[in-house]
Amino acid sequence: MNNKVKITFPSRSSNEGFARGAVAAFVTPLDPTVAELSDIKTAVSEAVTNCIVHAYPDAVGPVELSAEVKGENQLVVTVSDKGVGIENLERAMQPMYTTGSPDERAGLGFAVMKTFMDEVKVRSRPGKGTRVTLIKYIRSR
Ligand code: ATP
Ligand code: MG
Repeated sequence: MNNKVKITFPSRSSNEGFARGAVAAFVTPLDPTVAELSDIKTAVSEAVTNCIVHAYPDAVGPVELSAEVKGENQLVVTVSDKGVGIENLERAMQPMYTTGSPDERAGLGFAVMKTFMDEVKVRSRPGKGTRVTLIKYIRSR
C-alpha cells in the first residue's frame, strides 16, 4: 500500500506538535507498536525543531514535511527548509556539537534521530536549505 502526504507550515514552535501528531496519525494504519510510534514522534520532533531553531534565525520561513509509506512496512519522512543550511555536515551531526546557545541546546538532535530511526540522511546547502530524511521499518506483529 503506497501512500504519501505533504504539509507545509511556517517555522513557528507552535507547529512542532502538529507536525509530530500528523506523522503519528499518518502511520497509524501500519499498526506500529507503542515503542515504534514513540521513536517516530521523537525523531520528527527533533527534525522540525531544528528548522524552527536553526534554519531561519530570528525569522519565520516555510517547513515542508512529507510522510510516505512504501511497500509493506517502510515509513519515509522528509523535513525540508529553505533556510541557512549547514556548512559542515559531518561536524554538525556529531553528538554534542551545537551552534545554538549551550544553555538551551545539547547538540543531540541528530544523534537522537539516528538512535530512534533505521536510517537518517541529511542533505544541506549553505544559503539554500536542508533536507532530513528519516526512515523506519515498521515491524508489526
Ligand atoms: P538539540 O537538538 O540537542 O537541542 P542542536 O539542535 O544544536 O541541539 P542537533 O539537532 O544535533 O543539535 O543539530 C546540530 C547542529 O546542526 C545545530 O546546532 C545547527 O548548527 C545545525 N542544524 C541542524 N539542523 C539545521 C537546519 N535545519 N538548518 C540549519 N542548521 C541546522
Ligand atoms: Mg536540534
